[in-house]
Amino acid sequence: MKKVNHYILKGEIELLSGMRIGGSEDVLQIGGTDLTCIKDPSNGKPYIPGSSIKGRIRSGLEKRLGRDGKKLGEPCGCSRADCPICLIFGPHMNAAHNLGPTRIIFRDAHMLSEFVIENKTETGNNRLTGAAQSPRTVERVATGAKFALEIAMQEFDIDGQFEYKDSEGGKLKGIDAMLEVVDHGLWEMEQMGIGAGTGKGYGQIKIHCGDFKKSERTRMRSA
Ligand SMILES: [Zn+2]
Repeated sequence: MKKVNHYILKGEIELLSGMRIGGSEDVLQIGGTDLTCIKDPSNGKPYIPGSSIKGRIRSGLEKRLGRDGKKLGEPCGCSRADCPICLIFGPHMNAAHNLGPTRIIFRDAHMLSEFVIENKTETGNNRLTGAAQSPRTVERVATGAKFALEIAMQEFDIDGQFEYKDSEGGKLKGIDAMLEVVDHGLWEMEQMGIGAGTGKGYGQIKIHCGDFKKSERTRMRSA
């Protein structure tokens, strides 16, 4: 098995509503927010971890395509060569497979814009009395923030037979089919949103991106 090509897609994730991806609660402040959002320790700016993007795209595709997890709610681990999930994202909890390395690589999405952190107070309601209870403060990145999206795909010599349908139902093969799976996953992520609380309006996004471009080798050493 041999790697034959490397492709990179670049774009932006724009927030259409406040987003929260949980941060570590290790810096506890008196009177501070209860639920902070994750920030890059080098500059204090919020970012979207590559693992969050990968998880959203994978689970969005699995919902759409159906999965073959051993238990309900478990990611696909079928390891079949024709499974878009296992081939591209890697089979879940299955080390004994012949698919080769995970094809997709996600970078952390760092912030491109200025940002505003907003504190939103949430309360639950006691269903019997109607009284507000256990209020907490939630930190969100406000609408309008932009993050750099970067996804890479590795093509191997065994990938030629893989098939996937495009958005119009046309059959694609090989790397074109694999890049189409990622495109579909990005669409699913845009429909669902990202981060916590998407079911109550958090984390609505718009994705702006170009196409995948083949990465050609260049000389790394200076002359
Ligand atoms: Zn699978």
